[in-house]
Amino acid sequence: MGRIVQKYGGSSVADAESIKRVARRIARTRGDGHDVIIVISAMGDTTDELMDLALQVSPRPKSRELDMLLTTGERQSAALLAMALSDLGVDAVSYTGSQAGVITTPTHGNARIIDITPGRVETALQEGNVAIVAGFQGVSQTTKDVTTLGRGASDTTAVALAAALGADYCEIYSDVDGVFTADPRIVPSARKIDQIGYEEMMELAASGAKILHLRCVEYARRENVTVHVRSSFTDLSGTWVLPQEEVEKGSPMEEAIITGVAHDRGEAKITIVGVPDQVGEAAAIFKAVADREINIDMIVQNVSRLSDVATDISFTLPMADGRKAIEALEEIRDTVGFKELLYDDQVGKVSIVGVGMRSHPGVTATFFDALAKEQVNLQMISTSEIRISVVVGADDVDRAVRAAHTAFGLDSTDEAKVYAGTGR
Ligand code: ASP
Ligand code: MG
Repeated sequence: MGRIVQKYGGSSVADAESIKRVARRIARTRGDGHDVIIVISAMGDTTDELMDLALQVSPRPKSRELDMLLTTGERQSAALLAMALSDLGVDAVSYTGSQAGVITTPTHGNARIIDITPGRVETALQEGNVAIVAGFQGVSQTTKDVTTLGRGASDTTAVALAAALGADYCEIYSDVDGVFTADPRIVPSARKIDQIGYEEMMELAASGAKILHLRCVEYARRENVTVHVRSSFTDLSGTWVLPQEEVEKGSPMEEAIITGVAHDRGEAKITIVGVPDQVGEAAAIFKAVADREINIDMIVQNVSRLSDVATDISFTLPMADGRKAIEALEEIRDTVGFKELLYDDQVGKVSIVGVGMRSHPGVTATFFDALAKEQVNLQMISTSEIRISVVVGADDVDRAVRAAHTAFGLDSTDEAKVYAGTGR
């Protein structure tokens, strides 16, 4: 008999009926004799709704209180699921992240797991229960306060528990059949990927593919946890996320150069105009941003203009941090001596990812040519060994994703299914 972690996302438990449906699915797995650990997300769009509510009460809620509020979403669904399982004759106990031993750093809203001490979960399993753990939350080792792990982080809770409890694998249940070659909500001809390596999955997640939380994939790679992403609405096999060398290749004819196209509408672009071309200016700028704990993504610096020996620097960052970054930069405007700050959140990032590009020349040319044919203007470009990303205007994102998908031969003749969810 095996030991399986199953994580159900918000759209799989959006209302009472769906909770009962998920309970029946869990009861089947338990009936096969497996140890079952469930990690659950908040119902439907609960987290967004709680966030909206907080902002109606206060324009800048304290992050500690926000975590107290947001963690209730997962606590609700965990308790409800335990009730539904009991009615099916399946013994089940729900736990908050803290009760399940998810120990984190103290950073509210974006805490990291530093240890898992799942003693109570282990005992519950040994006593024959299904253990249900509220996702996306833990408790700080130092402050003893409740923390959250970042949006979408129930995936990470699931993989972390799978590693700590020595599970055979971790199933991530969603409202689509698996990881697709592009977001099926934008590209209906996207195809399901049967197997994908950790590296490619990490690049896709980092590039905005929301199907798996980035830290969950990093965790899975580090701890060697096999992840199966699949739909809770069917019994179809989904996408297996594995070590890159275990991914079975199709025939050489079928082997695609690009594995998938991802997009991200969550970033903004800041341009600092007229930065004096002197040693240390870039360091001062990015230190000011780093001191506010803002993660930046792409950076572009132009060659300096001869006329005024100054240059422009642009970078992208999470849209949510835009205001903080502008404040930080205004504070150093006089010491650095730049001329102007421009802020643009009407942008999006489109990325193509695939280990195949290591050995195939011309991938960049094909990508940019496809975008040019769609009249998409490129504002910024960045690459890694297995990824090429561009920043484009917000209105161009959908067209750019579709054009890239077609240009690399990823279109399928079947239409991808989206079973539920608002994509919010
Ligand atoms: N409920 C949280 C969110 O919406 C965590 C999750 O679902 O993974 O971000
Ligand atoms: Mg998710």
